[in-house]
Amino acid sequence: MPRVENDIKLDFKDVLIRPKRSTLKSREEVDLHRPYVFRHSKAEYHGIPIIAANMDSVGTLEMAKTFHQSDLFTALHKYYGVEEVASLLKEVPGIEKNIAISSGGTSDDLTRLQTISDTLPAIQFACLDVANGYTEFFVDYVRRVREALPHLTIMAGNVVTGEMVEQLILAGADIVKVGIGPGSVCTTRTKTGVGYPQLSAVMECADAAHGLNGHIISDGGCSVPGDIAKAFGGGADFVMLGGMLAGHDESAGEVMEDESGKKFKIFYGMSSRTAMDKHSTKLADYRASEGKTVRVPYRGPVQMTMRDILGGLRSACTYVGAPHLKELSKRTTFIRVTQQVNEAFRGLEDPKLNPVH
Ligand code: 5GP
Repeated sequence: MPRVENDIKLDFKDVLIRPKRSTLKSREEVDLHRPYVFRHSKAEYHGIPIIAANMDSVGTLEMAKTFHQSDLFTALHKYYGVEEVASLLKEVPGIEKNIAISSGGTSDDLTRLQTISDTLPAIQFACLDVANGYTEFFVDYVRRVREALPHLTIMAGNVVTGEMVEQLILAGADIVKVGIGPGSVCTTRTKTGVGYPQLSAVMECADAAHGLNGHIISDGGCSVPGDIAKAFGGGADFVMLGGMLAGHDESAGEVMEDESGKKFKIFYGMSSRTAMDKHSTKLADYRASEGKTVRVPYRGPVQMTMRDILGGLRSACTYVGAPHLKELSKRTTFIRVTQQVNEAFRGLEDPKLNPVH
């Protein structure tokens, strides 16, 4: 008989963070930087641990430049060539601390990683990304990359359960990417019925990783700055964003106009039909496309959105009395709620008076 786990598992929308008495005077006093030392690479990191996702339209060179200016991180998508990454490193000295190169999980990917790493020894991070991080094959791939490139800090995923986080860390991952199905353009949950509520996944996986001196990324499911605060509050070391960064000048793709003159950009999942067509990857007969393509309202420079995100996060820290982002999770008590926002004027925001959503 199938087993049922009766513990309630939580998504960001199911909780709020309880405020606590604090001595902080203003949110300006909050420091969002975090220092980490990674388990295998032994590399030291110091930055604001928010990552632009390694998706075509978000993990761009332009995003990396803007994000780096504020000490945020970008996982470049895997379709950039060595020359493009080389010119980025040349153009923006020091950016290597805030970028990862990405790879899938095949032998060709390993060869490409090795070439990039040999040609560009400044590269410090690799993001090994597969839709399903549960295969023995992927664990073995992580082991091979660790052996071949011992100095790299390896991000690997995606998984959502503690035992698999441990297995990937023991195989050589420094940072495990957590999230199956929460993404804004992901259709895994509807296509397969598989997934895990993101906040519970983060809390359980962070616990498993931290026990081994590993780290985790909460990947997917953040749609407002408060969700990012909840992910950090739940124990995430990094938070990765796709949809929240789509539709900006730094996102790939043209600005288009719809029938009513509203400007938009196209945003799509990395296993959507759009991505498959673009990269001429064949969708095998037995595999469903688990991503969709959407129109995102054009939102101008990402700088404004970034400020909104960092402002929200600083304010969350102030509400619980956390002078550094590090203390946010220690000072977080989640309260389960049935309604987290007042919906009275939903959709009626004045676009001119509310430039950032
Ligand atoms: P978002 O921040 O948009 O909610 O989530 C971004 C994350 O969604 C990405 O980092 C990646 O893990 C996941 N993702 C991106 N494209 C796809 C896709 O086509 N299918 C699925 N299942 N997940 C995707």
